[in-house]
Amino acid sequence: MNKAMTNGTNDMMEAVYAQLGISKKVYQFSKEILDGLEPRFAQIDKIAEYNQLKVLKAMQENKVSEACLLGTTGYGYNDLGRETLEAVYASVFHTEDALVRPQITCGTHALALALMSNLRPGDELLSPVGKPYDTLEEVIGIRPSKGSLAEYGVTYRQVDLLADGSFDYEAIKVAVNEKTRLVTIQRSKGYQTRPTLSVSRIGELISFIKKIKPDIICMVDNCYGEFVEQMEPSDVGADMVVGSLIKNPGGGLAPIGGYIAGKKECVENAAYRLTSPGLGKEVGASLGTLKDFYQGMFLSPTVTAGALKGASFAANVYEKLGFRVVPNGSESRHDIIQAVEFGTPEGVIAFCKGIQAAAPVDSFVTPEPWDMPGYDSQVIMAAGAFVSGSSIELSADGPIKPPYAVYFQGGLTFEHARFGIMKTLQNVADAGLVVL
Ligand SMILES: *Cc1c(COP(=O)(O)O)cnc(C)c1O
Repeated sequence: MNKAMTNGTNDMMEAVYAQLGISKKVYQFSKEILDGLEPRFAQIDKIAEYNQLKVLKAMQENKVSEACLLGTTGYGYNDLGRETLEAVYASVFHTEDALVRPQITCGTHALALALMSNLRPGDELLSPVGKPYDTLEEVIGIRPSKGSLAEYGVTYRQVDLLADGSFDYEAIKVAVNEKTRLVTIQRSKGYQTRPTLSVSRIGELISFIKKIKPDIICMVDNCYGEFVEQMEPSDVGADMVVGSLIKNPGGGLAPIGGYIAGKKECVENAAYRLTSPGLGKEVGASLGTLKDFYQGMFLSPTVTAGALKGASFAANVYEKLGFRVVPNGSESRHDIIQAVEFGTPEGVIAFCKGIQAAAPVDSFVTPEPWDMPGYDSQVIMAAGAFVSGSSIELSADGPIKPPYAVYFQGGLTFEHARFGIMKTLQNVADAGLVVL
C-alpha cells in the first residue's frame, strides 16, 4: 500500500470507531499500545499454530467422519459421534480416556462430578494452592450445602500459597496424610489476584505430591487454561483435567457441556456417577450438540489466541494508567483471564458497562450488581453472548468487594476483544476515573 492509501484506511478506521463511540484520544492511546505488542502477539500465534495442529491430528487419528457430526436421541447407545469425540479429547489431552457430555451442565458440575465420583466417605481432599473457586466452596462444604462432600463424610484440608505466590512445600508435606485421596489444583486464578499457575509449575507440584504418596489422584481445574500453552496439565502428571465447554475448548460454538479427561479409572468413576452405576459411558444421547462440539474444539486454539491478545492488550492499557493488573503487561500468561484492580466499585461498574456496550447481542442493556447464586458477595457481570453466560465470548465480572477487581476474559475474535477494551477505556475516562 502506498502512503496515501494507508492514510485513507486509517481515516476510515478512526471514523468507524468514532461511529461506535470511541474518541480520538482513546483510539490513539490504544493504537500506541497495540503497536508495542506485536512481538507478544507473534508468540501467541505460534502457540495457536501448534495447538491447531495438535487438534487436527487428534481428529484425523480418531477418524472423525461426517457421520460423527450427527447425534442420537433416547438412550444414546452406540453413539459414534459421542464416542469419537471423547477419543479426540483423550488424544488432545494425551489421556487414557475422556468424558465429554452435554449432560455436564457447566464447569462447576464437571468439577463436582470428578470430585464426588472419585472420593469415598472417610477420604480427604486437599487443595495445596489455597482457596478453590467460589462455587466449589459449596461442593466441598467449606460453606455448608445440601449434598456437599462434607455431608458425605469427605473431609477437606487446604494449604495456602506463600505470600510471594510460591507453593508452601513444608505445609503440604504435613497436610498429606493416610486419608488424603485426591488433590485439587486450580490452574487459573479465578476470582482471586494470585498468579495463575503455569503448566510447568503444576508439574512440579504434582511430582512433589506423588513423591510423598504415589496413589493420590491429582486433579486439575483446567478452566480457562486450555490451549494457552503448548502443554496441558495432563502432560505433566495430572490424573484428571476438568473444564467447561462454554469456555476455551468449546471455541464459542458449544452451547453447553463439560469434560473430564484422565486415567481410565477416574473417567469411569465419573461416568458411573453422571449416569448410573453399570451404565456409565454407554448412555447419554448427544442430541444435536456434536457438530458444535467438534467445530468448537477445532476453532478453540485460534479463538483462545484472540482472547489472549485481548487480555494482554487490556493489561497494557490499564497498567499504563497506573492500575494494578494481574498478570502484568509483560509477564507470561497461563490463562485467558485479566484482572484489573480499580480499588472502587465505580471503576468495576464502568468497566463492565463498557464490555456490555461492545457486545453483538444485548448491547443496549445495562448490567447491575446482583446476588448471584453460589457467590458470597454481589457480582456484576457483563456479557452479550451468542451462548448465554459463555465466558470464551467477551465478558467481564467483578465481585463488589475489595480490592474491587474486575475479571475480563474472552472475545471470539481479537478485533472484538480490542474494541471491547477500548469501550471500557472510553467509559472509565468519561466517568472521570482516568485522564488520558
Ligand atoms: C469458570 C470456572 C469454574 C466454574 O465453571 P462454571 O461453568 O462457571 O460453573 C471453576 N473453576 C474455575 C477456575 C473457573 O474459571
